[in-house]
Amino acid sequence: MRACFDVVVIGGGHAGCEAAACAARMGASTLLLTHRLDTIGEMSCNPAIGGIGKGHLVREIDALDGLMGRAADLAGIHFKLLNRSKGPAVRGPRAQADRGLYRLAIQQMLAEQVNLELRAGSVEDIELDTQGRLAAIRCGDGTRVVCGAVVVTTGTFLRGMTHVGPVSTPAGRFNEAPSVRLAQTLARIGLPLGRLKTGTPPRLDRRSIDWKALEADWGDATPELFSTMSSSVVNEQVCCRVTGTTDKTHAVIRDNLHLSAVYGGQIAGRGPRYCPSIEDKVTRFPDRARHQIFLEPEGLDDPTIYPNGISTSFPLDVQKAIIATIPGLERAIILRPGYAVEYDYVDPRALHASLELKAVPGLFLAGQINGTTGYEEAAAQGVVAGMNAALSASGSVHAKFDRAEAYIGVLIDDLVTQGVSEPYRMFTSRAEYRLTLRADNADLRLTARGVALGCVGPERMARFHAYRTEVETATARAGDDRLTSIELRDLGISMRQDGLARSVFELLGNNTVPTNTIVACRPWLQALSSRALESVVNSATYAGYLPRQEAEIRGFRREEAVALPADIDFADIGGLSTELREKLAASRPPSLGAASRIQGMTPAALAALAGYAKRSRERVVSSSKACFT
Ligand code: FAD
Repeated sequence: MRACFDVVVIGGGHAGCEAAACAARMGASTLLLTHRLDTIGEMSCNPAIGGIGKGHLVREIDALDGLMGRAADLAGIHFKLLNRSKGPAVRGPRAQADRGLYRLAIQQMLAEQVNLELRAGSVEDIELDTQGRLAAIRCGDGTRVVCGAVVVTTGTFLRGMTHVGPVSTPAGRFNEAPSVRLAQTLARIGLPLGRLKTGTPPRLDRRSIDWKALEADWGDATPELFSTMSSSVVNEQVCCRVTGTTDKTHAVIRDNLHLSAVYGGQIAGRGPRYCPSIEDKVTRFPDRARHQIFLEPEGLDDPTIYPNGISTSFPLDVQKAIIATIPGLERAIILRPGYAVEYDYVDPRALHASLELKAVPGLFLAGQINGTTGYEEAAAQGVVAGMNAALSASGSVHAKFDRAEAYIGVLIDDLVTQGVSEPYRMFTSRAEYRLTLRADNADLRLTARGVALGCVGPERMARFHAYRTEVETATARAGDDRLTSIELRDLGISMRQDGLARSVFELLGNNTVPTNTIVACRPWLQALSSRALESVVNSATYAGYLPRQEAEIRGFRREEAVALPADIDFADIGGLSTELREKLAASRPPSLGAASRIQGMTPAALAALAGYAKRSRERVVSSSKACFT
């Protein structure tokens, strides 16, 4: 057995799988060490990938040749584009996945990945060399592996504690042992640890549900796939059903609130505000008469139903009473109780944007350990951490993604600059340059960068080049190809009769002109692939707004380029409040731009920082001049 690797990844969840695959794609000899090989790629909670904001992340992971999009396409049993009625910038592809097929797809991709070895084991210790740089890891069975870089992706396992009513059990996930020794190791290294929580609903037996009583929820007739490498849906598509809570449900919840682990005081960690438990929803929104519940199959050959919307930490008998008050579920059998899980996370302000720890060169963190929630957020960080671990092991400069380039950049910048006070999840509203960062153009934004970094394989590269040429050629042609006002009138399109011919690009971007009519009169548009046509239409839709956004992005990048010294003593800078000094010291923003995004930053404080940065630059310039005289 080899005992030396370039990169070791700890944990086979969504972050770990992407990190390991990405490091291996970059040519690093990589070892993925995880508790159990059969749970690699496990979806701990909902059987779905994507959604609003999250779908963008999946497309970006795919653009960098990651696994998640391809696996979701292979496992998808119900595809739906969310926000379809809104602008293309905020539409979110989502798919419900067969849990078993998803795991299988991920496991197969990892098994086929060159440079990657998978091993079962529990990592308990991380060794640093005398300079405090990462040196090796050690497993519970004594195995020691020397390595150039490590990515820790332990999810909800660090000192994980599950709660079902008053019963608390040490576990990282249902029936899986927590990681206690590794949490102690991270504390010993001096990492700032905190406590967060999340929860999951009870699982129901499909055969015990009265389906006839419930409203159907079908996926899209033409499914939107995630990956540019996928060509079609492979599985039978299933129908979900919708139900909801009732007055009786709310009464049971209110009467038993003291028994919920969250409200009974057993849990100290903060939970996700945007993914609240049913007890949270009923308490926080007392005026709401009904909370919707989507009944989602966990697989084609699996009788388990995931009731999306009722995560809970009530005791089992209360969970049964709640379920019995819900239309269609009156006789439903609970296969597994819902529960909450509380776990340690590391304050992500301890990280660089490369996801390397500032205090420990060579040690990277990704996923739920950094205070996020969700598979997509975890996987996106996994790609970046895996990439940078490979670069670190080879002594190369780290890669970073900025807020104007990718949702991945928004996610990581939010984490390392602001930290978290509750589990962080992605929304499109977090991105200020939304019109540029669309789900449809993720590959156009990122694949060339991935090729340059070395994480994109030859097959994707070839497809990408062909696609980019198709889009560029079509965009240029759409700008040159014009329709006269008479042609437009003959097509039934009313335009000002000003005698001007209008370009296809202008017409595709005009929301009063039916896109189908323009496409119908231009065979060359009909000959485009559906993706290329969508890309041209979306670019045309936003063409009027993009110059302003591009100007904003230039301003953003100017501020990002103003570096703040890493060893800055914020006590030396006048005009900063104590609270701001503490926040600045905790995140140590590398640039004036990053400092401007710290909560509570004022224009006066920013001006003081800008003045300090200028004086530091001048000092560096004058001391380097002094060296030459
Ligand atoms: P995980 O997927 O948790 O994977 C961690 C991996 O690390 C596991 O394979 C584990 O075995 C391994 N591991 C841990 N310690 C060690 C060690 N010392 N040595 C070796 N291997 C180790 N997300 C949402 O978006 N919405 C929700 O409502 C939601 N609810 C959730 C409810 C529950 C109960 C749980 C458990 C998770 C929930 N999630 C939810 C979160 C979602 O599952 C995670 O965000 C996602 O799985 C995190 O991915 P990860 O790769 O960081 O970690």
